[in-house]
Amino acid sequence: MTDFRERITAAYDAESFRRQGRQLVESLADYLAQAQRGDGLPVLPWASPAVNVDRFATAFPEEPTGSFPELVARVLSGSNHLHHPRYVGHQVTAPVPLAALCDAVSSLLNNGMAVYEMGPVSTAMERHVLRWMAARLGLPETADGVLTSGGSLGNLTALLAARQAKAGYDAWNDGAHAGPPLAALVASTAHYSLSRATRVMGWGAQGLIPVPVDEHFRLRPEALAPALEKATLAGRKVIAVVASAGSTATGAFDPLEAVADFCEQHGLWFHVDAAHGASAVLSAPHRHQVRGLDRADSIVWDAHKGLLMPALITAVLFRDGARSFEAFAQEASYLFEGTERPWSDVAQRTMECTKEMMALKLYTCLSVLGTRLFADAVTESYAQTRRFAERLSATSDFQVPVSPDCNILCFRHTPAHVPPEEWDGLQARLRERLVTRGDFYLVQTKLPGGVYLRVTLINPLTTDADLDALMEALRTAARR
Ligand SMILES: *Cc1c(COP(=O)(O)O)cnc(C)c1O
Repeated sequence: MTDFRERITAAYDAESFRRQGRQLVESLADYLAQAQRGDGLPVLPWASPAVNVDRFATAFPEEPTGSFPELVARVLSGSNHLHHPRYVGHQVTAPVPLAALCDAVSSLLNNGMAVYEMGPVSTAMERHVLRWMAARLGLPETADGVLTSGGSLGNLTALLAARQAKAGYDAWNDGAHAGPPLAALVASTAHYSLSRATRVMGWGAQGLIPVPVDEHFRLRPEALAPALEKATLAGRKVIAVVASAGSTATGAFDPLEAVADFCEQHGLWFHVDAAHGASAVLSAPHRHQVRGLDRADSIVWDAHKGLLMPALITAVLFRDGARSFEAFAQEASYLFEGTERPWSDVAQRTMECTKEMMALKLYTCLSVLGTRLFADAVTESYAQTRRFAERLSATSDFQVPVSPDCNILCFRHTPAHVPPEEWDGLQARLRERLVTRGDFYLVQTKLPGGVYLRVTLINPLTTDADLDALMEALRTAARR
C-alpha cells in the first residue's frame, strides 16, 4: 500500500505535469506550424484500419514504462491533419488553437456540469454563450437552451420537446403508442440524424416524411401541403416540419420563411437543423440566406462546424425557453431537488448527465479573440467557396451541379478523354488517389446526377491557390 501511495503521488505530481505540459505545448506548436505550412506532410497519412490497429498494438504494461512524448509523436504523425491547407473534407473545422488549451483546462478541472454545483463557472459561461447565440439568431428574450454533444443529439433533444408540445398526449410518460402515430415533414436531403431521432422516439420508418427538393436541393415549400395531407390520410399525426440550413450533401439552405409560414398556418412545430449553417447569421453578406431562422421553435447550431471550435459543442435553442425543460420531462430526485426547475442544473435538459465544460472553449475564444474573427471566417469561407465554384464552372472539364449556398461545394471532373458513362467511377478513383497519396483530403457524395466530389472549405488556412492546385491534381490523376 505504501507502494501505491508513491505511485499515485508520482502520477498526480504537479511538477511532472508542468514538465510534460511544457514539452507537449512545444511539440503541439511545432506540429501546428508544420501542418499549416503543409510541406512534406500528407494531409491524411492513409493506412488501412488493420495497419493502424497493428501499429498501436500494445499489452498495456503493468509498470509505468510508457513514454508520453513518443506516444504523442505517433498520434500526431498518424492522424488526419485538419490544419493542413489542403484539408477540404468533412464538415469538421481546423480548430483555433486557443480552444485546444481550453480543452486541457476543462479536462483537468473536470467540472461535470450536470448540476450547478459541479460546474459553477461553466454553467454561467454556458448561459452567456447561449444568450449570445440566441441574440445573433434574432430570437426573443424568452429564448433559452442548452449545449449538448453534437448536432445528432441536438436534433433528438429538439424533437423530444416538439413532441411534448404538439403530440396532444404525454408520450414521455405514457409511451409512443399512447396516441396516434406521430410524424415530422423533412426535406429529402436532411441529415440522417433526424431519421435516427424519430426512430429512437418510436415513430418508426414512417415517422419522418421526406418532402421533395428543387433543382437547388432546397425543400420545395409547395410540396409541404400535399405531404401533410397524404400523411394525415395515412393516419399519421404530423407535428413538426424540419428544415435544414446547410443540408449535408450540398449545403443547401431550405427556404425558412416559407416553411415558417406553413408551420404557422398548420400549428406545426418549426425545427431548423442549422448545425452547419447557423453561423451564417454572423456574416452580414450572408445573413439573408437564413432569413426566417428567427421564427423557428427550435434550432440546432454546431460550434464545431462554423465557429472554429473542436468537437463537440452544439447549441439547442428554443424560442420559448421553457420548452427546453420538456425534452426530458423526467424527475431524478437524487440529482434535482424539489419541483421547480432551475435553469442552472443543465442536465435536466440534456441527454447527458455529466458533460464536458463545453461552453468554456467558445466563451473563452469569443472573449479573447473577439467575435469579428468568427464572423469574418464565415464570410470568407462562403466567398471562397463561390470563387472556387466560379473557377470550376468556367472550365470545360469540371462541372458544378448547383452553385453553393455556403462553404460546401459538389463538383466533378469530366475530361473529354473519359466517356461520360465512366465519370462516376472516375470521381471515386480520383478521390481515392488524392486521399491515399495524402495530397488532399476531400470526400464524395452521390447526387441524382451521379457521383460528385465534395469539399467543405471549413479550414480558414486553405487558399485559392490550394484549390487551383486541387484542380490540377485532379487533371493529372485523371490522365494517368
Ligand atoms: C453535422 C450535421 C449534423 C450532425 O451533427 P454532429 O455534430 O456531427 O452530431 C446534423 N445535421 C446537419 C445539417 C449537419 O451538418
